[in-house]
Amino acid sequence: SALLLTGSAPTRTRFSFEVFPARSGAAALALGHAVQHLSAAGPDFISVTYGANGSNRDASLDLLRYLRDRTSALPLAHLTTVGETREAVRRAIHGILDAGIHDFLALRGDPPRGSGEADAAVAGSLSSRELVELVAEARADRPALTSVGRTAVAAYPNGHPLSRSRSEDLDWLVAKQEAGARFAITQLFFRAEEYLGFVAEARERGLRIPVLPGLMPVSTSAQLRKVASLAGRPAPEGLVRALDAAGGYAPELGVEHTIGLARELIAGGAPSIHLYTFNRHEQVLAVLRELHLLAPDPVLRASFAADRARTPPG
Ligand code: FAD
Repeated sequence: SALLLTGSAPTRTRFSFEVFPARSGAAALALGHAVQHLSAAGPDFISVTYGANGSNRDASLDLLRYLRDRTSALPLAHLTTVGETREAVRRAIHGILDAGIHDFLALRGDPPRGSGEADAAVAGSLSSRELVELVAEARADRPALTSVGRTAVAAYPNGHPLSRSRSEDLDWLVAKQEAGARFAITQLFFRAEEYLGFVAEARERGLRIPVLPGLMPVSTSAQLRKVASLAGRPAPEGLVRALDAAGGYAPELGVEHTIGLARELIAGGAPSIHLYTFNRHEQVLAVLRELHLLAPDPVLRASFAADRARTPPG
């Protein structure tokens, strides 16, 4: 993470993961298992979504604490402002800092179920830019934390439903950088040129921070439709047809597509890739293995070393 954030050229492309809080006890057990595998891969950070799709916000903090206490991964907290007062947002930031979590993804957040952009509570929410500033203020209140922790923001290679023009969108991202954002993570997209073109234009507008492409290896037609709706572009025809032909479930197809996309992004200069895991480790680790980005597993390495030590030579 030091390489990514100081801007010096990394020798090997870095990676990070996104997970979301489990919604049942059984899902929590599976998630505990998945994050152990994700953490052992050595990501720069594992980010945890916040309140997305109505999920319980306390559950985000629990999962962040689990990552901090039970894994070697750096936890990064998504935080949203939608429907909250400035004071409530400030309390949430301090609650996260109190838990020993110092890294944030500052977001406005989607309107809660049953409300829309036009609702006064949504329209009146603090912007992501103001949230970046609030996090900086909260850090400044704690001198011990001034040198730790980074704030990231979201970027939309294919535009955001709220954006009125490409130009305004790019200016807004630069404004988030000026407010203190240290890197950006993109919304999902399907084609390398969507990311590469967006980053090139943003650089011309004065964007200097790293932009991590967000990628998700889909396993099902339903996930593919969801990604397409977030990406704001139709899914590639070939992938749709192949998934349908496979009966709707075929994790290997999503893995293969993501590997191809990641290769083009890395060749085009992406500093790091951010993988939306859907709380599964198998697919994202298969992608990283194929890209030769996985360091040898330190736990496995230690156990091989122990075996060798026990085995008498000859
Ligand atoms: P902003 O960046 O503030 O705004 C989005 C766009 O709106 C801008 O790009 C710009 O075009 C336009 N815009 C807004 N304000 C202005 C302005 N003042 N001037 C000009 N243009 C403006 N949602 C959750 O609820 N929980 C999560 O955990 C979560 N995680 C996410 C992770 C990533 C990587 C991404 C990409 C999105 C995530 N979201 C999450 C969804 C996100 O909260 C929604 O897309 C939300 O509608 C926008 O939030 P934002 O912070 O990106 O908005």
